[in-house]
Amino acid sequence: MVHFKVENLSISFGGIRAVDSATFEVGQNSIFSIIGPNGSGKTTIFNMISGIYKPDSGNVILSGESLTGLSPDRIARKGVSRTFQNIQLFANASVMDNIMLGRHIHMKTGVLSGAFMWGRGSRCAKEEVIHRERVEHIIDFLDLQSVRDQFVSNLPYGKRKLVELARALALEPKVLLLDEPSAGMNTEEKDDLRIWIKDIQDDYKVTILLIEHDMNMVMGISDRILAINQGIKIVEGTPQEVQKHPDVIAAYLGEEDA
Ligand code: ADP
Ligand code: MG
Repeated sequence: MVHFKVENLSISFGGIRAVDSATFEVGQNSIFSIIGPNGSGKTTIFNMISGIYKPDSGNVILSGESLTGLSPDRIARKGVSRTFQNIQLFANASVMDNIMLGRHIHMKTGVLSGAFMWGRGSRCAKEEVIHRERVEHIIDFLDLQSVRDQFVSNLPYGKRKLVELARALALEPKVLLLDEPSAGMNTEEKDDLRIWIKDIQDDYKVTILLIEHDMNMVMGISDRILAINQGIKIVEGTPQEVQKHPDVIAAYLGEEDA
């Protein structure tokens, strides 16, 4: 039973409180979204959850176990994986190799020997087959077959975002953090993404935290939503509850580059 909880998570930069006492719970296998204008602290919450930033105070708890203060790698090994607002992939490596990298935490051979030199020596060969099968499954699932051998640098932005999602899925996460996954996608790509996120929830049984500006997507797929502004909670609740909150409406009307 996966139960994810963030308690009073706060962090300041140069005396400015970027996130103030963020507190929320995400049930097993549900989609929890964080919305708010640019600069309101959404990505910073993800950075604290994934260990990139150490919170000034507060706790991140996965199924009763505290993740606070652990390294990003340890947190990934505990089952929390993510995508980044600014894509972080190896541009001069193939789609396949990038996704295989997501499996490194499951590899006995470690990142360097495991990721780019697999197949050398029979000891790794069997392990490699298993990893490749898992990755093949994800490639099929996200419809990346046609670009599997291409360098990431040759792909349009929307496809790169999908490769990043594929890599995050390759970790077989319990909790998946998606930071603006639909940014830069066209309507058709967004429609696919929306279905895939639901499939990840339903078929892979993953608990999903989503930062997303596309309100159709957010309102359509979220079980619960947290709206923040300037690091402070405005409201948390069901899409229906959040959507009609006057401060949410005001915050979104005030934003130009959503
Ligand atoms: P959002 O994702 O909601 O657009 P962010 O979480 O990226 O917002 O940023 C929230 C605030 O924290 C912004 O004012 C941003 O400038 C600040 N911030 C985030 N990371 C840092 C950092 N490493 N150093 C200084 N300020 C930061
Ligand atoms: Mg952000």
